[in-house]
Amino acid sequence: MSPPGIDILMYHSIAKADGPTSIAPEVFAAQMHAIAEAGVAVVTLDDLVLARAGRKALPGHCVIVTFDDGFRDFRENAFPVLDALGFPATVYLPAGQIGRRENWVGAHEPARQLMSWHEVRCLAERGIVFGSHTMSHPDLSAVDDEVLEVELSRSRAVIGDHVGRPVHHFAPPYGLAGARERAAIARLYRTSVGTRLGRADPAADLHDLPRLEMFYFTDISRWRAYLSGRAQGYLRVRKLMRGLKHSVLAPWQ
Ligand SMILES: [Zn+2]
Repeated sequence: MSPPGIDILMYHSIAKADGPTSIAPEVFAAQMHAIAEAGVAVVTLDDLVLARAGRKALPGHCVIVTFDDGFRDFRENAFPVLDALGFPATVYLPAGQIGRRENWVGAHEPARQLMSWHEVRCLAERGIVFGSHTMSHPDLSAVDDEVLEVELSRSRAVIGDHVGRPVHHFAPPYGLAGARERAAIARLYRTSVGTRLGRADPAADLHDLPRLEMFYFTDISRWRAYLSGRAQGYLRVRKLMRGLKHSVLAPWQ
């Protein structure tokens, strides 16, 4: 029996490429099928918000699927798998970069193509939820108050206009959000995730939600073990190793 909590899965690109921000399509499909086989419920960030307000009950252990950056390979390689399994997902968009190739600090080489607004709209109509990942993908902890406000509020408005519904969820680039950034995010968004590794417990801070870096679970037997509650020790080891690294930016964006 797995300990109770919510595993918020973090993905970026679903493609065969080097580096921790890419997961091969067949591995992604196997990870999703393992969730279905384990009988773990896939819910949404809105479900989590409702549960916190006492308006919805969540299963003891559930999963939320999230993608940062809005790469085109989400539509090509991830959406068909999610759609076939009936799994909801949230994609965080850098709103000023839509239709272009990634060009921010730490971008993959060669730079990957983001979806167009047309693709975003089509996916929104199919049930994909879009959150904000700022306008220009900056390190928010390094920008002044005015820029912070624009990155948060303008992206929310632009994405909302394109998908035709309000935008309630946010992911800071590089997972970097200190107390000032989190307070500003909380004024505009219902939830915010980071790159802090771990399982969210039912009382977790909705504006500092931990996620699971799925690059750590490309070994499907390990992922199955985690889902069944048999690999919690592995997560503790990964957390410890990350704590020892002291990198300026997380190795994923
Ligand atoms: Zn990003």
